[in-house]
Amino acid sequence: MTNNLRADNPLRHLPPVHRLLAQPQVQDLLQRLPPGLVTAAARTVLDAARAAIIAADGKPDTFSGVNPLFEETLTQQVVEEAVRRAAPTLQRAINATGIVLHTGLGRARLAPAAVEALNEVARGHSMLEIDRETGKRGSRRDHARRLLCELTGAQDAAIVNNCAGAVFLAINALAQGREVIISRGELVEIGGAFRMPDIIRAGGATLVEVGTTNRTRLSDYAQAITGQTGLILRCHPSNFALIGFVEETATADMAQLGRERGIPVVDDQGSGALIAVAGQKNTLQESIAAGADLITASADKLLGGPQAGLILGRTDLIDRIVRHPLARALRCDKLTLAALEATLLLYRDPKRAMSEIPTLRYLSRTEPELRRMATRLRTRLRIRLPAERFQVDLIRESSQVGGGSLPGERLPTVCVALRSKAGFPSAEEIMAQLRRNRPAIFARIRDEMILLDPRTLETEEMREIEEALLSLSGSLHRETESRLVR
Ligand SMILES: *Cc1c(COP(=O)(O)O)cnc(C)c1O
Repeated sequence: MTNNLRADNPLRHLPPVHRLLAQPQVQDLLQRLPPGLVTAAARTVLDAARAAIIAADGKPDTFSGVNPLFEETLTQQVVEEAVRRAAPTLQRAINATGIVLHTGLGRARLAPAAVEALNEVARGHSMLEIDRETGKRGSRRDHARRLLCELTGAQDAAIVNNCAGAVFLAINALAQGREVIISRGELVEIGGAFRMPDIIRAGGATLVEVGTTNRTRLSDYAQAITGQTGLILRCHPSNFALIGFVEETATADMAQLGRERGIPVVDDQGSGALIAVAGQKNTLQESIAAGADLITASADKLLGGPQAGLILGRTDLIDRIVRHPLARALRCDKLTLAALEATLLLYRDPKRAMSEIPTLRYLSRTEPELRRMATRLRTRLRIRLPAERFQVDLIRESSQVGGGSLPGERLPTVCVALRSKAGFPSAEEIMAQLRRNRPAIFARIRDEMILLDPRTLETEEMREIEEALLSLSGSLHRETESRLVR
């Protein structure tokens, strides 16, 4: 380590912050960005440079402070860092992971019709809570309500912020201070803070576990019912699957039991499919037909709409839920309602839904179609990227549905696999560059290869990936050249 700064120590050549700030490009930037932000950017760049020098242990061939380009490079980095910091953090991204419902990347991508509806309502005033006939105050509840009933066969419907909110509200409104019966095999965690036992507790109910992890019979539920029972809950495991010696009670049987004993049965269906795709077993219509009193589902999973929680089922129970004070706290906004209604309208014509709702379109892409897409991208990358540096191939892989939907369901796909021939830059380094691109690009890495899965991509996005890789290859080229000059 180089702590005592000898004359030849490159740390000595690190310019002070004020000298970087005095550079003309940085001065230009200071005309339009807050000084605090630019100074913080300069500090970050200097810290990183210092760390790089120390890591290289002062070896001049890897990082030379004497290099006349050094200060210029740092200045350029300050400009980039400051511009990056000034940009909004929630930006569009490109999903080349093949995970159709990637929660980190915002789950379902909206259909053009939904985007249009959302835009329209955002731009102007809207009929959110007004009655067109009387001109008097109406209810936001009415949007999409009849449509949901029509499409699912439910008696009534309510829409809240998300599915976790829907489950919480159902428990709190129907079983507060009472017991909630649930199978041991369904006490699941669905990402982050959504753990069924916690939701039941937070909803003010007492958890009553029945059966075992792998088998729960109707008699287990029946025996657990007491005068204190508020509701019977079924939760679809969503993100994992039990195989082997497994038995679960059919929802229809649970519903029958609930009716006989006067206990509401709530089916947290989660994935919310209106059309069976990619091996999905349960559509919302089928869940309704099975007879549960209430069904809860996400609108931004297999339904392919905006983030929302759907509550479908008996009018009297839904009434109790929407009159609950927390319903106001969990309600969703006009933009969501506009996008949801527009998405649902597409389902009136299932063919149209399949072709216009990206989630459904991506899930139903066939292997030959994906191979054609991947081949086009591979060909263009082979033409445009330097062959001595990158190897570009096709590779058979599988995509995932994601979003805690259809665990274990593997969809065959064909990916473009990109790797550096010399092992430099590493796949991690390429990935980091792609994430820094605007729009940021996300892909999978396997065996030192970047895998670009066309399943979740549109044609324009394949072009954007191509451009990003081209510019990455260009900057690598310049970097190598400047190393040679030194
Ligand atoms: C995904 C899921 C949830 C949570 O849904 P959000 O809309 O993300 O709140 C709850 N229950 C089940 C069964 C799920 O699959």
